[in-house]
Amino acid sequence: MSEGKKTQFVTAGRNKKWTQGVVNPPVQRASTIVFNSVAEKHHATANRANKTLFYGRRGTTTHFALQDAMVELEGGAGCALYPCGAAAITNAILSFVSTGDHILMVDTCYEPTRDFCNIMLKKLGVETTYYDPMIGAGIRDLIQPNTKVLFTESPGSITMEVQDIPTLSSIAHEHGIIVMLDNTWAAGVNFDPFKHGVDISIQAATKYIVGHSDVMLGTAVASAPYWDQLREQSYLMGQCVSPDDAYLAMRGIRTLGVRLQQHQASSLKVAQWLANHPMVEEVRHPGLPSCPGHEFFNRDFTGGNGLFSFVLKQSAPKATTALLDGMSHFSMGYSWGGFESLILANEPSSFDALRTVAHPHFSGTLIRLHIGLEDTDDLIADLAEGLDRYQAALEQNA
Ligand SMILES: *Cc1c(COP(=O)(O)O)cnc(C)c1O
Repeated sequence: MSEGKKTQFVTAGRNKKWTQGVVNPPVQRASTIVFNSVAEKHHATANRANKTLFYGRRGTTTHFALQDAMVELEGGAGCALYPCGAAAITNAILSFVSTGDHILMVDTCYEPTRDFCNIMLKKLGVETTYYDPMIGAGIRDLIQPNTKVLFTESPGSITMEVQDIPTLSSIAHEHGIIVMLDNTWAAGVNFDPFKHGVDISIQAATKYIVGHSDVMLGTAVASAPYWDQLREQSYLMGQCVSPDDAYLAMRGIRTLGVRLQQHQASSLKVAQWLANHPMVEEVRHPGLPSCPGHEFFNRDFTGGNGLFSFVLKQSAPKATTALLDGMSHFSMGYSWGGFESLILANEPSSFDALRTVAHPHFSGTLIRLHIGLEDTDDLIADLAEGLDRYQAALEQNA
């Protein structure tokens, strides 16, 4: 965690204009904003894009406070809010592409992002080329005259490859291509998007910003040249969020720093234990040298978190079920970023559908962990017992 961030977690978004005399910006629920005069109504209409109360869809003071907070944490000129991370990704892309355009999408993107490209963008006549997350300067060869967006996600979903964002961004900018980043893993704070050439930094705030597994929320922070178009086109698509959810996201921000530090320390300890386990082939944790792009993690990130994967030596679905079904501290769930530990398994064949050009070709099952805030001794004991169950099941089926 870089110095100066800890204070920001406490102060971000708490402008007196929004807090109105209390510590936390209150929840202001509204569809209708009422004006006391024609002049007031004119003023609101003229300033509706600039944090002035106009109509609920444009946000209330609770939203304005969260938008300020996100810009203070990530940088950029403004933050658009969305009902979930997937909406933030799709609206950011849709705000900048037209029929006939082409986008470059990292092959290790979040699965619904891939589905959106393959189904929705295809339907709209926007072509997608998937590229290897480790392509670096080779991205130059994939650029077409109609390439509009270079979409990155670092580390990559499930397989955790860390991308060389500065190299990718500088080549994209030579061609006037907009660089977007799914910055969810870094929670927008352990990777400074704008310092590394990103134009639009997107997050599933659902994960670490909210941090308690109880709200769906997306954010997209844009640099000045792209902020007006992102804000207005997302608005045209009707994107808005509940003030209660915005409030909970701000509450999450207050403890984001200490949570991330604990998630990182605990996940490194568990990852190192796994790296020494005889049944483990490979550990994909950006903080360990065995992770592709570890050097970019060391160069560009200021910290890590609780999410990483490891690969077993073989694929044995019955044994994996024995492992998963008996866990006591790790629950199975399609998310991460909350205070609790989670576990999911991917058989090697599942990557046939998830990858086009960067198939990892694992010989064994990949297990993704989210290390929560429990005692690491409890988590390691749980995993040790799980791996014993796996081994016992292997022997039984042999
Ligand atoms: C969860 C997730 C999303 C989608 O966020 P939702 O709020 O679930 O829609 C996008 N990108 C990444 C990397 C995620 O982990």
